[in-house]
Amino acid sequence: MDGAKFAIEASEVESMVKESGLSVLQLLTSLVKPAQNLARPPISKFSVGAVGLGSDGRIFFGVNLEFPGLPLHHSVHAEQFLATNLAVHGEPRLLYIAVSAAPCGHCRQFLQELRNASDIQIFITSSSSENESQEPPKFKPLLSILPNPFGPFDLLDKETPLLLEPHDNGLWLLSETIDSNSGNSSNLCNGLCELFAKNESMLKISALEAANNSHALYSGCPSGVALMDVEGMIYRGSYMESAAYNPSLGPVQAALVSYVASGGGGYDRIVAGVLVEKKEAVVRQEDTARLLLKAVSPKCELQVFHCGSGLNGCKRPS
Ligand SMILES: [Zn+2]
Repeated sequence: MDGAKFAIEASEVESMVKESGLSVLQLLTSLVKPAQNLARPPISKFSVGAVGLGSDGRIFFGVNLEFPGLPLHHSVHAEQFLATNLAVHGEPRLLYIAVSAAPCGHCRQFLQELRNASDIQIFITSSSSENESQEPPKFKPLLSILPNPFGPFDLLDKETPLLLEPHDNGLWLLSETIDSNSGNSSNLCNGLCELFAKNESMLKISALEAANNSHALYSGCPSGVALMDVEGMIYRGSYMESAAYNPSLGPVQAALVSYVASGGGGYDRIVAGVLVEKKEAVVRQEDTARLLLKAVSPKCELQVFHCGSGLNGCKRPS
């Protein structure tokens, strides 16, 4: 398997099962170590790998990301990465997850945003002994490690779309634009402003789409980010909220997951970004987005565009 691959197609999973003689669940646990090798934890040096099986037979990887120079709460946990990776690939259900270390409370809570979260079957590889590795792994429901969970339905009705389900927040771009980094633009986007200008409308559209897919039902403040690398490739990230607020994942983090999951290299290859959010939002991402992007790719230019929303009674201009 390609070392930088973060999703495996169902047909490839089938061939791997046939060739290895392992069951799908044994294969899942055997991929945890290779997943750990893809983690980027420069602060803790503690690599976490999470490998998930989706409802359509695809396998997805998740790893932890840490960002030097920033407070620890900007980090992305492997289980959050995994859920974001499923969203990026349009997979609506996580059935099984094998993870290298016991999920922290933050991740047990974050996974509550998925439909039937309590039934997700989990296996912690660090808890299994060497001689158990030949036996079928004993997965157990997430409920067993988070009894009496507080989740989406404590705040929302049961018909509300959850994290991996389709969202359409009914947003549109307002004509007004906030200028990003005013001043000497020749220092910006690693001297690649021409490339940025050429791709600006694509970035805007991608960020708007990400905002429209954002899972932000608790605050009503959806947002989305699109990042562009030196080759003009675009990576989208949707803001994702947790019913418990603090485990929520920001749109820049989500876009960085998309970048890493697509085989992206160093973060300094990211040269431009667009954030779309509502102007008068109670929860705003702009300041945090600038902080995070400045830390990971100091010359990256971020532009912010505001959007209107049918949610707060505004009428979309015709
Ligand atoms: Zn965690």
